[in-house]
Amino acid sequence: MGAGEAVTGEVYRCAHCGNRTRFDVYETVRRRRFAHFTLGGEVSIDEEEILDATVERVVCRWCDRDDAIETTTDAG
Ligand SMILES: [Zn+2]
Repeated sequence: MGAGEAVTGEVYRCAHCGNRTRFDVYETVRRRRFAHFTLGGEVSIDEEEILDATVERVVCRWCDRDDAIETTTDAG
């Protein structure tokens, strides 16, 4: 897994309005990062590993509900 990839393969769907593409996802993530510092003080992240991720809340951006969100691993 590289930096910037999705934490899980879960796909969300709002049962209220049918939204499948726009959500606010509130999550707690523990991660290890290989921070590569230059002597000039700049930093780049060469490697990142997600150790643990917990999704606390998912809110639909369309209808603003968090009690109608269904999760599925089926993208179709
Ligand atoms: Zn919705």
